[in-house]
Amino acid sequence: MKTAGVKTVRAVAPLAAVIAGSAFASQALADEVNLYSARHYDSDEALYQAFTDETGIEVNVIEGGSSQLIERIKSEGVASPADVMLTVDAGNLWRAEQEGIFQSVDSDVLNDRLPDNMRHPDGMWFGFSERARVIYYSRDNFDPSQISTYEELADPQFEGQICIRSSNNIYNQSLMASLIEHHGEEAAQEWAEGVVNNMARDPEGGDTDQILGIASGECDLAVGNHYYYARLLNSDDEADREVARSVGIIFPNQDGRGTHINIGGAGVVENAPNRENAVRLLEFLSSDMAQEAFAEGNHEYPVVDGVMQNPVLDSWGDFNTDDLNVNVLGENNPEAIRIFDRAEWR
Ligand code: FE
Repeated sequence: MKTAGVKTVRAVAPLAAVIAGSAFASQALADEVNLYSARHYDSDEALYQAFTDETGIEVNVIEGGSSQLIERIKSEGVASPADVMLTVDAGNLWRAEQEGIFQSVDSDVLNDRLPDNMRHPDGMWFGFSERARVIYYSRDNFDPSQISTYEELADPQFEGQICIRSSNNIYNQSLMASLIEHHGEEAAQEWAEGVVNNMARDPEGGDTDQILGIASGECDLAVGNHYYYARLLNSDDEADREVARSVGIIFPNQDGRGTHINIGGAGVVENAPNRENAVRLLEFLSSDMAQEAFAEGNHEYPVVDGVMQNPVLDSWGDFNTDDLNVNVLGENNPEAIRIFDRAEWR
């Protein structure tokens, strides 16, 4: 367990003691909030420190993968020290909610600050940063006027040209969930089959590997979240920047419903021992300062309008986003997985 705070009254209680759920531990550490986080950015730490400076509330961070954290909270049960769970992708937030680990929060601050479509209808979780799933193309080998939508990725003219990661990845599942919502299951299935036919190789690696696939000439088109490309563009390593220069970015479906968007978000845990502090932390994440820092740390977009972005994102300009409530991405997740299986998208 790490602590982001400075004023540690009892130093940090050994994790085992906290997990044991002793009344002493939870009472003695009242001025704290325990954050289970599936985000792993150094910049987030600085933000928690700012929260501590402003409120005097220590932030204890436990990091892990999303499903790992969900399992941990479930097994800790009523004795769980977890106050807030923070993760990426509405699909993961939806899973956490389905597992019953969140409680409903009704906060005027959050309701005012965050757009409706970026939070759970009953306040089970809230989105604090936006990520766009975009199409990348080879500047050397591909004319970008040939494609402008996700739907066209299934067009037979792109046979053998596309790099995209595996279907067990939540980002692709959420993209598929959005296609199910807009077109129905049958059309979504046809799309998946078309994309499988157009793959340049069997799915492998993460989003960055798809961009690298373009740079190496293995594929002409790729799909990935926008910040992986922004990272390469901003890298200290000249080799990364060279990769980025050989790749172009397309924000899909600009003449229609807009680009598929997902979120980084958080909810207050069902048995949160420090519920008030948990809500304060979420409200803090919606402040202008936090929005800027939280999003900027990973080149994401703030969800609150008018908050500054970074130069790379600004250089891409504004784009239209699909305003589907991101909760739908979770609701359609099981069907998305079934469609991928049937389409043999590994
Ligand atoms: Fe990511």
